[in-house]
Amino acid sequence: MRAWLRFSPIIVNETIISDTMKKYDINFNILRADISPRGGKMLVEIDGKQVQESIEYIKKRGIEVNPIKKVVKKDDEKCVDCGACLSLCPVKAICVMDDWEIGIDDQLCIGCGFCTSSCPMKAISVME
Ligand code: SF4
Ligand code: SF4
Repeated sequence: MRAWLRFSPIIVNETIISDTMKKYDINFNILRADISPRGGKMLVEIDGKQVQESIEYIKKRGIEVNPIKKVVKKDDEKCVDCGACLSLCPVKAICVMDDWEIGIDDQLCIGCGFCTSSCPMKAISVME
């Protein structure tokens, strides 16, 4: 599953993620992070047999967890299929589909945000 994790300043120095990985034998793939001593947030992909248990544990330790299905959302009403975002995606998650519309593969997207800032129509946003 993918989720945004939010850290308050009082827990930002705690070893919650590594404790959770050891305790529940799960993998955390950090896709995006913006953390400072004042707190912050992290976009992660969590895999393993005890994902739900690990989520409950990190919530108890004080991290706010917001699961997401899509990392970015494209507003098809605004998108003009210009392709400006296409070459900027570092993981090739953006493609031209059979009907010549621009599509985004949620499984590949890492939420870097390059496409959101490059879009002249402001058609893409990172889900939070
Ligand atoms: S840059 Fe924006 S308008 Fe152009 S294809 Fe990408 S999402 Fe659509
Ligand atoms: S957020 Fe980054 S990885 Fe996801 S589609 Fe946009 S450019 Fe690609």
